[in-house]
Amino acid sequence: MNLEDIKATKQLLSIPQKIVIIPHKNPDGDAIGSTLGLLHYLKNEGKEAVIVAPNDYPKFLKWMPGNESILNFEKDFTPARKAIQEATVIFTLDFNHLGRVDHMQPFLEEATATFVMIDHHQEPADYATIMYSDVSMSSTCEMVYNFIKNIDTTDKITPEIANCLYTGIMTDTGSFKFPSTTSTTHRIIADLIDKGAEKTTIHNSIYDNNTPSRLHLLGCALKNMVILEKYSTVYITLSQEELDTNNYKKGDTEGFVNYGLTLEGIKFAVIFIEDKDQGIIKISFRSQGDFSVNEFARTYFEGGGHTNASGGKSTVTLKETTDYFVSLLEKCQDLKA
Ligand code: 5GP
Ligand code: MN
Repeated sequence: MNLEDIKATKQLLSIPQKIVIIPHKNPDGDAIGSTLGLLHYLKNEGKEAVIVAPNDYPKFLKWMPGNESILNFEKDFTPARKAIQEATVIFTLDFNHLGRVDHMQPFLEEATATFVMIDHHQEPADYATIMYSDVSMSSTCEMVYNFIKNIDTTDKITPEIANCLYTGIMTDTGSFKFPSTTSTTHRIIADLIDKGAEKTTIHNSIYDNNTPSRLHLLGCALKNMVILEKYSTVYITLSQEELDTNNYKKGDTEGFVNYGLTLEGIKFAVIFIEDKDQGIIKISFRSQGDFSVNEFARTYFEGGGHTNASGGKSTVTLKETTDYFVSLLEKCQDLKA
């Protein structure tokens, strides 16, 4: 954060405000961890604050302290809308353009609040008055740690906050292994452990919660895997029927896309997941090295994200989507083996 933004934030928070904190749609560990970490900090400072999530999220994120207070815009529409309308300050965390909140977008566009963005994705939109945007950061949770440090002191980080922030740093760095993990990230993690983050419990809560159905679904996904050696690419598909047969629950497909990248010589891994309810194919892109999946998702699949991890969608059938995808690979010189 630059000095001007720090000063402006301190000033903004020096008077009573009605604060709403918002993660992106289909929030992940970093989105829920960062919003809850910030919520606890603001509440401990005596501020009025609430989180409004655009929709539901997986059970493996629901153990975090404060989870029960999160309003779900789809389920709790009336109080959620009221909170946004009455807000004087809106923090948007772990996303940087309003399309990422889906049905909530028009409500945010109409809101009269001052917007504060804390985010680490590329190409931020300019809706926020205070913008803490830094693509070099491992996670929004690491940024919330810096945010508290900048506007106050890390002494204010309680065990609750430490648990939330640790979670998001862990999930967004693939357990501290992605290139975005720096020595500073590790120093912050060490400090969060000193401040009460229960690292083994967190790890178990996030990753050791498989169900037989999820493992069967993984088996199905891996069977469907297509390897395109010529383009150093692997893709996986899951149809709605396959999800239904395997008793799919939100979050079950988390991490499936990463398996492709563990194959030698593979630089690009993709998963296409059919969602008949929404009438879309939800896509996750992952890469290793310089191939930018952010650009790929942005150019061809109405999405975005980071250089090595991004997402997007398609509104044609699963087969048409994968055919189109394969036809695009010829254009990607970086991928050619
Ligand atoms: P995932 O594939 O795990 O859903 O997302 C990977 C990364 O891409 C995350 O940082 C996520 O925020 C971002 N992302 C996922 N889907 C979309 C999308 O539809 N649009 C944009 N702009 N970013 C996305
Ligand atoms: Mn993130």
